[in-house]
Amino acid sequence: QVAPAHPKPLRVLALANQKGGVGKTTTAINLGTALAAIGEQVLVIDLDPQGNASTGLGIDRRRRKVSTYHVMAGEAPLVDAITPTAVPRLSVAPSTMDLLGLELELASASDRAHRLRNILRDLTMPEGIEPISYVLIDCPPSLNLLTINALAAADAVMVPLQCEFFALEGLSQLLRTVEQVRGALNPKLQIQGVVLTMYDPRNNLSTQVVADVRGFMGDKVYETMIPRNVRVSEAPSHGKPVLLYDLKCAGSQAYLRLASEVIQREGRAPPPAAAA
Ligand code: ADP
Ligand code: MG
Repeated sequence: QVAPAHPKPLRVLALANQKGGVGKTTTAINLGTALAAIGEQVLVIDLDPQGNASTGLGIDRRRRKVSTYHVMAGEAPLVDAITPTAVPRLSVAPSTMDLLGLELELASASDRAHRLRNILRDLTMPEGIEPISYVLIDCPPSLNLLTINALAAADAVMVPLQCEFFALEGLSQLLRTVEQVRGALNPKLQIQGVVLTMYDPRNNLSTQVVADVRGFMGDKVYETMIPRNVRVSEAPSHGKPVLLYDLKCAGSQAYLRLASEVIQREGRAPPPAAAA
């Protein structure tokens, strides 16, 4: 096999929203699967101590000997944490509850905000293993030092918003944090987009929220909305992305469409100087 003349550069996307239950983890798992399905080499980095992305990708506790805690604590290189999943081309760096303690350990370190960026910069895959083309970072539901590390390491942030009454609440704070990180830590940081999740067309409130968010964020909002879909919520308990669990369901199809929008946006992302 001939190596491509221009190997794809690594793109790092952080899935962030300080609210819990908005679809960060579900999107990390299923967007990751959809990107892998269309040929990208994808790594999900689980930065949430809850480890839901790791569980949802079928990595049980015994297979988390080397976790993102070890990597972030400087005890192991990232390659050692990379664990294959049932999805070809999709791997995960799993997390454990140990990550809860990292915040305190990091606080006094001089590279406290840049540690993940440096780790990704130094990532080289072993001989014979395809280089990663997309990293998706599943952030914890907080604007803590782990999320700051993700934003400092990312090319762009993706914001999942649940279609419910308080969707916009907290968004301004998140956008301010993104501004601050761009100013102080990561000038190239862009907003890849806002993804509306758990959309229910039969619910008037859901449609009103969509209108509000589109009014506020304009074309930053992806056309694709992820519908509320029982198959999406069942899949994690089987340790599978919904695309493996039920490819035909509306949730799987939506994540495939989202993946192609994401790739399209990557293709026409403005240079950093022109970023909003
Ligand atoms: P977060 O990572 O932001 O806390 P999750 O991705 O864990 O949010 O989602 C919260 C809950 O909502 C989970 O139980 C998940 O299975 C469920 N969920 C997420 N997206 C959908 C969807 N499109 N349809 C139905 N349930 C969903
Ligand atoms: Mg989560």
